[in-house]
Amino acid sequence: MNKTIYFIANWKMNGNHNSIKEIELVFRFLKKSAINKFIKIIFCPPATLINFFRIKIRNRLINFGAQDISKINVDNGPFTGQLSANILKNSGANYVIIGHSEKRLIDEDFKTIKEKINVALKNKLKVIFCIGEDLSQKKRGLSLKILKKQILSSLEKKINFNNLIIAYEPVWSIGTGIVPSNNYLNKVYVDLKNFLKKKYNVNSPIMLYGGSVTKDNVATLGDISLISGFLIGGASLKATSFIKIIKNYFK
Ligand code: PEP
Repeated sequence: MNKTIYFIANWKMNGNHNSIKEIELVFRFLKKSAINKFIKIIFCPPATLINFFRIKIRNRLINFGAQDISKINVDNGPFTGQLSANILKNSGANYVIIGHSEKRLIDEDFKTIKEKINVALKNKLKVIFCIGEDLSQKKRGLSLKILKKQILSSLEKKINFNNLIIAYEPVWSIGTGIVPSNNYLNKVYVDLKNFLKKKYNVNSPIMLYGGSVTKDNVATLGDISLISGFLIGGASLKATSFIKIIKNYFK
């Protein structure tokens, strides 16, 4: 095993101060587990909780990320409701999710996503960039075309892939319990890898899978060698299921 495997918990609009107990359980598991050398755990709770969690768990076995960032590239200022990269970093975040399909539905267009990615990277926040086609696009055979459009419209030509993680999340898989076959996923990741090499000259982009990952399907998904980990929604809220996902991946 020579690559880091990511397990990223996207808590969406869930969690409160008591949820620290879930993170503590994951932390305790990691501390006594030999696999902690091979994995990166990143919790992305609501922004209001990051600082509280970071103060409670200062150990770097647990990392934190935000679920959004302001596209305005200043540290502070008269921008009501905005959270700058600086404010997020100050709260304890080192990562930020950008381009999630749920956020695209609310208010993120291509231009906004590109601006947010640039602001995050300039300010040394690592980006978890989500891409994914919806069901009707998939049914029309447009999946790869859509993914490539999402990538090209959001990533500058000279972007630094050291601080960028691409999470492929088919929209039709998020929260539905439907997971694409390995055959389908293999084709997508091989094509994406070749495309990223051609357009950005990157050899080993970090590519994750997201969409209904559970303890029962993670081992099968783990057979896809181009996948470097997972973005996990529902199954990341409880430590017991999150830990089982990690364990089953390495079984
Ligand atoms: C997500 O929304 O990023 C996600 C992967 O959700 P779920 O695991 O619940 O499908």
